[in-house]
Amino acid sequence: MLHNPLDNDIKFVSGVGEVRAKLLDREIGVRTLRDMLYHFPFRYIDRTQMYRIEQINEHSASAYVQFRAKVTGKNFSGEGRKRRFSIFVSDGTGTAELLWFQGIKWVEKRFELGREYVIFGRPSFFRGELSMVHPEVELVEKALSRKVESGLQGIYSTTEKLSSALGTKGIYNIICSLWGSVQGHIEDYMPEYIRQRYGLVSLEDALYNIHFPQSQERLRQAQYRLKFDELFGIQLNIQSRHSSRTTSRDGFIFNKVGEFFNTFYNTRLPFPLTGAQKRVIKEIRQDTVSGVQMNRLLQGDVGSGKTVVALMSMLLAVDNGFQACMMAPTEILARQHYATIARMTEGMGLRIAILTGTSRSKERREVLQALASGEINILIGTHALIEERVQFDNLGFVVIDEQHRFGVEQRARLWTKNSQPPHILVMTATPIPRTLAMTLYGDLDVSVIDELPPGRRPIRTVCYKDSARLRLFGFMREQIRLGRQIYVVYPLIKESEKADYKNLQEGFEAIIRDFPLPDYRVSACHGQMKPADKEESMRQFKSGEADILVATSVIEVGVDVPNATVMVIESAERFGLAQMHQLRGRVGRGGEQSFCILMSGEKVSRESQARLDAMCETTDGFRLAELDLKLRGAGDINGTLQSGSAIDLKIANPTLDHQILELTKQVAISLLDADPTLDDVRHRPLRELKQRYAGEQEVDFSMIS
Ligand code: ADP
Ligand code: MG
Repeated sequence: MLHNPLDNDIKFVSGVGEVRAKLLDREIGVRTLRDMLYHFPFRYIDRTQMYRIEQINEHSASAYVQFRAKVTGKNFSGEGRKRRFSIFVSDGTGTAELLWFQGIKWVEKRFELGREYVIFGRPSFFRGELSMVHPEVELVEKALSRKVESGLQGIYSTTEKLSSALGTKGIYNIICSLWGSVQGHIEDYMPEYIRQRYGLVSLEDALYNIHFPQSQERLRQAQYRLKFDELFGIQLNIQSRHSSRTTSRDGFIFNKVGEFFNTFYNTRLPFPLTGAQKRVIKEIRQDTVSGVQMNRLLQGDVGSGKTVVALMSMLLAVDNGFQACMMAPTEILARQHYATIARMTEGMGLRIAILTGTSRSKERREVLQALASGEINILIGTHALIEERVQFDNLGFVVIDEQHRFGVEQRARLWTKNSQPPHILVMTATPIPRTLAMTLYGDLDVSVIDELPPGRRPIRTVCYKDSARLRLFGFMREQIRLGRQIYVVYPLIKESEKADYKNLQEGFEAIIRDFPLPDYRVSACHGQMKPADKEESMRQFKSGEADILVATSVIEVGVDVPNATVMVIESAERFGLAQMHQLRGRVGRGGEQSFCILMSGEKVSRESQARLDAMCETTDGFRLAELDLKLRGAGDINGTLQSGSAIDLKIANPTLDHQILELTKQVAISLLDADPTLDDVRHRPLRELKQRYAGEQEVDFSMIS
């Protein structure tokens, strides 16, 4: 095959080099020229528009603006790492302060008192005064002599670490210099007849105009083409899976509601089911008599009572002579489910077992044997359940709990333990908007529990800066005095695990210092502890022996301690919305007023702030899920990393681009009808596109344990 220059390493592009290449890879996953080209601007600003300082107000605080002004003064302040440099400017209608924390020496030399500059950046306001941190600055004469073709300049998202080495301007420059070597080499995989029918510009044209828009119209066409490609790529995958399923998958038939289900319903259920729970059980019941294998996504907010729905569905399976299993993402959660379910069904004559990565070998052998012989009715566990050697006698129903990431469907499909597939129920507390779920997961049916059990009090959420820590500690003492318990959670994000553990350790020590024995008891729980120690910490907290549990997001899912009323999330700006919502769901389970306190650094990116605001504004998981998609669609890199989303959309936003989504679905269906394996020479190049959006093929549990 011919070498494609798009595959070249980014480090050879002029102005990049070894160090920046590493940074680009680590921070935004860019390794090749192609990766860089597909790092699209998330916004464009019109550089022909010049503001006056008086026109810039707090409403423009999130957008980039540009203005011309003269330098009236300079000032250094702070010491050591806190050192900063200010330039004061005025344009006759107002004044502004420009601030630098880095590269001070270099910046300082560039400014001359009394000269006029064009200043470009994101305004912020402090006590009503306009300021700008690390703006781009150019002498007026130079800025005005530059030829600006359409006036539209792309703004690229960066990360905190990347922005000091390569801001949006730096990324723009890299793309400018690599363009020369790829121009003329960008092959279009889209068949000509599809391009013509749907008015799609060529791929090269699209990639050029997305970075260097020649006009508003060309930009719009470029965006349309690239969104089309993404959604079409996804649809090619979904629709080809869909057609293989409907033709081949018969489902077990559960035609009776038997003794286990009825006994449980009539004598064990500790509360009346909510209307929503009843409806979902009915939907599952209908599916399991239909003769087609069920693939159902159950969405229900944290605390909406999904467990009991899962249990009753599993009882249906057992009533019909089948085994059932339930898979949880963490050991802690698996044990908790096991305890709950064993307790609720005690004495009913069911055999329920647990299997996790830490089960002892003797115990494991026994379980595996009893499972293969059919003695075990319900098996609960972690991903240890999908190992090869775990063989069921006749598995009829699988529950996958708390699968709050996009890879849902792919994971469900891993279940190939029977010649005939079991029914599958995937439960998630991070709802995907319904229409979106159905389009994205073409063949997954969706049930929703949209009603919380009665008597829940809404959780109060507030957002504090680090400087309010004393107040936080005061509040925590007050709650402990009232007999309540508190979670303090630290972020644990793959890329920086070491630093994260350090933060956790320091936080833990600070809390032990401020909440000393014998008045306060603090325990800790994180992924680097031995399972037995984790277990012991959790036990102490559950039993009320510990007042405070300091943890990483391992407790994200499933922990149920009704007496815990406060959830403190440290460095909340680093969490995704879905994760924060999950964590918040750990409190508010008892009758007392509960609180969620989001602690964040003094400086927070706009996107992070939007997430924090959303958390304070609503406790509705559906609303948050929609917001999350919008924010991520806008190019929030951190959000995407944290969500571990299987399908990495760079430009399309399935919620907003619903029409393109529908269109690509139709195009994919008719194309696959005619040519299911993409053998036609016109379609072959599309295999590349399809492959790119195939989603994850393996279970990736590293995010959650
Ligand atoms: P989730 O949907 O987050 O998994 P759970 O199944 O853990 O929620 O249920 C949360 C809590 O609500 C549990 O303590 C459970 O016993 C209780 N619960 C579930 N359904 C009802 C109901 N219909 N009425 C009252 N309490 C309920
Ligand atoms: Mg649950």
